[in-house]
Amino acid sequence: MTPPRKLHIKSYGCQMNVYDAQRMVDTFCAEGFVETASADDADLVILNTCHIREKASEKVYSELGRLRVLKDDAARNGRDMKIAVAGCVAQAEGAEIIRRAPVVDVVVGPQSYHHLPQLLARAQKDGRALETEFPVEDKFGFLPQPKPDAIRARGISAFVTVQEGCDKFCTFCVVPYTRGAEVSRPVAKIIDDVSRLADNGVREITLIGQNVNAYHGQGPDGLTWPLGRLLERLAKIPGVLRLRYSTSHPRDVDDSLIEAHRDLPQLMPFVHLPVQSGSDRILAAMNRKHTADDYRAVIDRFRAARQDIAFSSDFIVGFPGETGEEFAATLALVMQIGYAAAYSFKYSPRPGTPAAEMRETVSAAEMDERLVRLQELIDHQQAAFNKAVIGKTVDVLFERPARNPGQIVGRTAYLQPAHVMAPADIIGKVLPVRIESLERYSLLGQLAMPPASSTPAPMTIGA
Ligand code: SAM
Ligand code: SF4
Repeated sequence: MTPPRKLHIKSYGCQMNVYDAQRMVDTFCAEGFVETASADDADLVILNTCHIREKASEKVYSELGRLRVLKDDAARNGRDMKIAVAGCVAQAEGAEIIRRAPVVDVVVGPQSYHHLPQLLARAQKDGRALETEFPVEDKFGFLPQPKPDAIRARGISAFVTVQEGCDKFCTFCVVPYTRGAEVSRPVAKIIDDVSRLADNGVREITLIGQNVNAYHGQGPDGLTWPLGRLLERLAKIPGVLRLRYSTSHPRDVDDSLIEAHRDLPQLMPFVHLPVQSGSDRILAAMNRKHTADDYRAVIDRFRAARQDIAFSSDFIVGFPGETGEEFAATLALVMQIGYAAAYSFKYSPRPGTPAAEMRETVSAAEMDERLVRLQELIDHQQAAFNKAVIGKTVDVLFERPARNPGQIVGRTAYLQPAHVMAPADIIGKVLPVRIESLERYSLLGQLAMPPASSTPAPMTIGA
């Protein structure tokens, strides 16, 4: 019997790429492949790429340089290793990838990866295969479902794509070009996916989309459902203890979402709501379609619905023409809102986007200095947010054994890692933990109630 072929996937970038990589694994497992943790012995290596900033794209080419050596070694040993580039770099650069890196056999965009097995067969026959169109059919209808063993191996927390693409066209961003127009999956398909995950032990679902709160999927009643209504329905699925969603746009926060935060205990009070800048002039130049005051008003609506809600955000420093005063407006906004966490990036011009044509660039030194100042402020807020939990009792969803023997790690509602000494059968349960200390970003504590060993997970919420 010939041994199964081995697949290795390396994924870069956002949560959506993590999800897509899992679906690629599911696709090839259905074709008889097994996953391998190293590229060394793989028959097929897929790089699932990110194009959002220049650094992310360039990483792909240095990785392809390393893979060329492995592929040559494999050939010398009589093994045929195939290399595929998937994701947003594949979409943006297409055939240019093969020109720059002839080691690549297959190039496939993020909307076509359900065709990967056929593309691999074509590459085997013709030498190369490339597909970067946006096909008319929906890839989700063609992707095989993960097997129960694969779901269990991936742990108690899972992503589910509910929406893809973006129609916002922020002037700095490649997403509308690489992922295409906004599309929402039908409610019934999402219910099926979430039910299958929950039946196989998943307890936390994060709904993902480039612009997830623009969700407008077809409901079983024939009406268009917004995200809040979808969340309300998913909260009824037995076994789903926690719901999250990411990434939201401030313009698309509707009443259904605010009401979901008010009414659903399963919906975690932690919202990633990128603002990018605190300056109205920069927000307009970014084509964000909201002002800093609009953003503050959205935050107020969330806080009025649920007072324990906390926020994270994304920021770009050094957008073309950003003055010192405009950057100071960003710092002022951060101070006013008070974030539990945030990501900040130096502006990176992306070919084909309107901002890449803007002339008034900010110097590299100025960008570095602004990034440091912003990150210091955010780190300070994050540390204060984390410290505030010491001495409190909070709910933790336990995920896996920690590195220290006997310790189990889980996450609070705000995604803070929390460690306790406890038996492994608390994995998959939400239990109250008294937090005693903070070590860097990790909380340490004790179970507030000793676990009733071997009792089933408390799955009553939403059942
Ligand atoms: N859809 C989300 C939103 O509306 O904010 C974010 C999508 S993007 C994958 C994640 C983050 O990357 C953005 O929020 C932005 O801060 C950052 N980003 C996007 N393009 C960038 C660029 N050209 N330079 C620097 N950062 C960028
Ligand atoms: Fe990019 Fe987000 Fe703007 Fe869409 S809304 S263009 S994904 S930053």
